[in-house]
Amino acid sequence: MSAESDHIVRFIGVQKSFDGETLVVKDLNLDIAHGEFLTMLGPSGSGKTTCLLMLAGFEAITHGDVLLAGQSLKNVPPYKRDIGMVFQNYALFPHMTVAENLAFPLESRKLPKDEIAQKVARALDMVQLSAFGRRRPGQLSGGQQQRVAVARALVHEPKLVLMDEPLGALDKQLREQMQFELKHIHDSIGVTIVYVTHDQSEALTMSDRIAVFNEGVIQQLASPSDLYERPENAFVAQFIGENNRLMGKIVETNGANCKVEIDGGGLVEALAVNIGGVGSRTTLSLRPESVTINPRQGTCPDRFEARVEELIYLGDHTRLRVNVCQHDDFIIKVPRTSDAPKLEVGQTWAIGWNASDCRALDATD
Ligand code: ADP
Ligand code: MG
Repeated sequence: MSAESDHIVRFIGVQKSFDGETLVVKDLNLDIAHGEFLTMLGPSGSGKTTCLLMLAGFEAITHGDVLLAGQSLKNVPPYKRDIGMVFQNYALFPHMTVAENLAFPLESRKLPKDEIAQKVARALDMVQLSAFGRRRPGQLSGGQQQRVAVARALVHEPKLVLMDEPLGALDKQLREQMQFELKHIHDSIGVTIVYVTHDQSEALTMSDRIAVFNEGVIQQLASPSDLYERPENAFVAQFIGENNRLMGKIVETNGANCKVEIDGGGLVEALAVNIGGVGSRTTLSLRPESVTINPRQGTCPDRFEARVEELIYLGDHTRLRVNVCQHDDFIIKVPRTSDAPKLEVGQTWAIGWNASDCRALDATD
């Protein structure tokens, strides 16, 4: 297969500078497959929107190139790129009805009237607003207006839709409902979506793959489960999900594993994911649910004493904050099981984990 049929979008060595000095996007290489739901996730200012705007054609590319279906986008004006777009505050035309707003991109493409009516009806149905075609945007709630914006981005059936924090202005419940709707729409029509958000749970919910951005660099590009279960560096481990960090120094490496001397005392065996040699600093990353309380003798090579500082009952699990190796912000999730120990603040328990769940990551980046 040619590169053209493999990927709908390719960023090739893309750089962006606004002031001619600092790069806000640094050597970005990213291939996006046809039909993929790809999310750019990262803190504010990490360069996500800039990447989307370069793809849309609203920002110039300082260096490198972006290909759409194998064609360089240099010298292709935005309106010729056939890309749908939804932004947080996507302005619908206030003086037009919802149906007129949806018909607009089709009329400007000079489609026949009956075809326009059909496509508008289908787009309204897709976002469950069939009964609202004759209203004006001002007569709709925020969530409904954003659905119209989604329908308008899809109505001319583009192969690619870009969405920049489209749910940012909605309240939590509506946002979660819309996440499922967007995913459902994506699955049912097979459009490629490039989605930008700083909200990790939103990214985990909807995406096929997530590109985690920090300071204009993709830190890791992977599926949601890989990002959570197999973070490749300390930034990703800390940014995605809840994470316990133990700082230390590598004292021995042996194949896939390494031994780490924790600051504050104690020796830990860990998975050597991304480390320097003996003597270098490392951050150990450990998910709260990977820690076992009161493990059976001989089951965990990594065993510590933990003092319970705080305890929150959450129904299906209990959340503990414990003091381990002089770190008092260590979190453990204890699932509710019939043989779970009775836990109280002030107690000291043995805790442990498997070396394979404890990831040693470079502490210098
Ligand atoms: P994100 O969408 O991840 O929050 P942006 O892509 O908007 O980040 O911004 C990345 C960096 O580029 C930020 O430091 C921001 O201040 C800067 N930036 C964005 N747009 C402009 C602009 N038009 N002029 C100058 N600097 C900009
Ligand atoms: Mg942004």
